[in-house]
Amino acid sequence: MERLKIKEILVSKEREKDVVAKGWVRTKRGSKNVNFIAMNDGSTIHNLQVVANVENFDEELLKNITTGASLAVTGKLADSQGSGQAVELIAGKIELLGKADPEKFPMQPKRHTLEFLRENAHLRFRTNTFGAIFRVRHAMAFAIHKYFNDKGFYYMHTPIITASDAEGAGQMFRVSTLDPKTPPLTEEGNIDFSKDFFGRATNLTVSGQLEGELGATALGEIYTFGPTFRAENSNTTRHLSEFWMIEPEMAFYDLTDNMDLAEDFLKSLIRYALDNCMDDLQFLANRLVQEEKNKPQDQRSMELIEKLRFVVENDFVRCTYTEAIEILKNSKYYKTNKFEFPVEWGIDLQSEHERYLVEKHFKRPVILVDYPKDIKAFYMKLNDDNKTVRAMDVLFPQIGEIIGGSQREEDYEKLLGRMQEMNIPADEMWWYLDTRRFGTVPHSGFGLGFERFVQFVTGMGNIRDVIPFPRAPKNAEF
Ligand code: ATP
Ligand code: MN
Repeated sequence: MERLKIKEILVSKEREKDVVAKGWVRTKRGSKNVNFIAMNDGSTIHNLQVVANVENFDEELLKNITTGASLAVTGKLADSQGSGQAVELIAGKIELLGKADPEKFPMQPKRHTLEFLRENAHLRFRTNTFGAIFRVRHAMAFAIHKYFNDKGFYYMHTPIITASDAEGAGQMFRVSTLDPKTPPLTEEGNIDFSKDFFGRATNLTVSGQLEGELGATALGEIYTFGPTFRAENSNTTRHLSEFWMIEPEMAFYDLTDNMDLAEDFLKSLIRYALDNCMDDLQFLANRLVQEEKNKPQDQRSMELIEKLRFVVENDFVRCTYTEAIEILKNSKYYKTNKFEFPVEWGIDLQSEHERYLVEKHFKRPVILVDYPKDIKAFYMKLNDDNKTVRAMDVLFPQIGEIIGGSQREEDYEKLLGRMQEMNIPADEMWWYLDTRRFGTVPHSGFGLGFERFVQFVTGMGNIRDVIPFPRAPKNAEF
């Protein structure tokens, strides 16, 4: 007999033949004569109502049907008497696949805090909230591949273990097979990495961009979508030690082309979510309203679906870093000392500043460009003013920076000069510099933090709740 997913059953017109549903019990309620079992199999946020007439089943079996238990139910579909669902399954046969002792199973049918669920990350998939989040996460990953494939970009797999630490000096995880107790030492007493597995010091990558540029300057347009690692000790709601990044890199794109792509890309992903994930988004929207009930009116965020539509329907503001500093300095917030961090030309913006620009000033997503060269990476293209670089950060409400990107410096001499100024070992980066020595072209790219984006789409406040198993300082349990 054919097993149907609950998602299919809920829209099925079949009333004659037996069907089989399999899943996990969410709740059971009922009377002396009849039990109503809400069953979920992960295919949808909605549960299937299974109706079991008590007289047809063993008492012991019914007793073991508790929250978390797994079942295979065979029976006929019927138009539902109750409200809330169109179809219910009248159980003919129930097979108990696995019990879940109610004394011990942590996921009880009540509201658990997100903190509690993080401590039970192995079981939190069983909740409505996390089911919705991870279905949306999947849909967004799929939409990303679809977007780029439709545009003729190639998916490029860049290495996870890398020897270049040009970008994140001091913030990388070392990869080594040396014995930490007795590592080989050089004459100067430093660890001798020439004896290590790769014959040199290696780390987990912080970005696939540099390798991505090698692909783009031949294949034209590529993107990476893989895990990246940062060993920075930031315990915020927007940082993970292991996160997924999408990094398109395009030959013959200048900064404007780059911005146009980033805006179109983000809007198209959100549109995909609105078109394909409405049940889950609706659930998450309601969840957010409940969560924010106790917040003062002015601290509540925009209703989730309204917010997503708003981003799709409005142009992003484009503004220079220098203009942004002016706006911040002239703001009431600044004048009444409401910012925790200083605002000064040359200083990197903090998320409080980014959010002010987006949420209070422009009331739209913002793309900031032309940042001071000293706060940006060596590979960004220098502007004619010699002070700023062709960088772009896309800032979103609630999140702050969601994308960081730039037009790359394609001039060999200028790039070398920047590397020397910033103490980047040019000899180790010979392979990167070769792109500028042979057939160099203007090119651009950016990095989208996948979890920050999923946070935005799901309305979740903490980044640890949008990745199945978060890695953060002192946190790698599951
Ligand atoms: P931030 O200043 O917000 O820490 P960053 O400037 O260090 O970020 P980039 O190096 O520009 O980040 O990385 C590109 C994108 O990757 C960011 O725009 C962000 O969406 C995401 N990202 C960066 N660091 C993290 C992190 N630790 N955890 C999750 N996402 C991150
Ligand atoms: Mn950045």
